[in-house]
Amino acid sequence: MRKCVSIDGTWLKGKYNGVLLVASAQDGNYHQYPLAWEIVDDESTSSWSWFLMNLLEVVPDSTDLVIISDRHQGIINVVSSVYKNAHHGHCVWHLSQNLKTRCKKKGATEMFLQIEKIYKQNEFDVAYSDFRKRYPEAAQFLDERDTLDRWTRAYCPNTRYNILTTNGVESINARLLEERKLPIISLLDSLQRLTSSWFVRYRNASVAANNNLTPTIEGILRNRFTDAQGMQVFELGRLEFDVRSGRHSAIVDLKSKRCTCRVFDIDRFPCAHAIAASWLANIDLYQLCSEYYSTMTWCMAYLETVYPVPEESEWPPNINFPVVLPPCLQKKVGRKKQNRIPSIGEFSKR
Ligand SMILES: [Zn+2]
Repeated sequence: MRKCVSIDGTWLKGKYNGVLLVASAQDGNYHQYPLAWEIVDDESTSSWSWFLMNLLEVVPDSTDLVIISDRHQGIINVVSSVYKNAHHGHCVWHLSQNLKTRCKKKGATEMFLQIEKIYKQNEFDVAYSDFRKRYPEAAQFLDERDTLDRWTRAYCPNTRYNILTTNGVESINARLLEERKLPIISLLDSLQRLTSSWFVRYRNASVAANNNLTPTIEGILRNRFTDAQGMQVFELGRLEFDVRSGRHSAIVDLKSKRCTCRVFDIDRFPCAHAIAASWLANIDLYQLCSEYYSTMTWCMAYLETVYPVPEESEWPPNINFPVVLPPCLQKKVGRKKQNRIPSIGEFSKR
């Protein structure tokens, strides 16, 4: 998996409330790949801390990791203390919704959602300065709210690939509308069944795929292939090329798999410039793509089976069960419910 993990929490709707926390990566075909589920009392700092400490066992901390979440205070406080080397990026969709409430001017949110996707820093700077001129109030809000490395693809110190929002992990939670009403054990059983069914579906899809790359990446490359056809390529040095398209030019280095447009560097598969250069260099395009996107890697991701918890009679002996305390129930805020049973006083009046 690419080292980009989205985390999110959603309220449970059963008798004891609680929150379901989820961590998810994205497979090489841009599908959500759940890594961990956990049920906690609430989205407090201590709950997120416990979740991330456990996540650390399956997703080790590293300098090229990105953790993406919304700006919930409980999360912000703990990500940097548990994942000391990873970068914490924020979900741009949540930021756009906050922006919408702060700046009512037509077109501000739409323009924001365009500029956050830009790959190149100087191109971003030009677009953001234009945004600032058109929507000063919105730009001021963004400046006060977050630093550029948290929300832009161009200034992220690590690679965010195509993962700029937590919409993917939230779509997992949205899929659990009915399950969230269940008691905890039944909920965990449904999560296992759901994960197993995804594994079966994508295992079958990946085994049946007969291209070198996943279908999504093949599709994107096909479009870039068309763009590359009109480009002029000039050899500069060993595997270095000047690629021109109209008034624009980019320098491609096929050896280090980089291009000055930064699409090749961030996506980890060739941009249109690199495709055009690969033709002149007579290099197989697939050699320029990261292993993350190979059909083989995609297959490997779903190779293992996710089994249900076996019946109690089959459990290994001498399991050291922890003491499970009753959940901390939070009082619901709102009007106190009227007692439907009349008091003794009321009975005597009748
Ligand atoms: Zn390029």
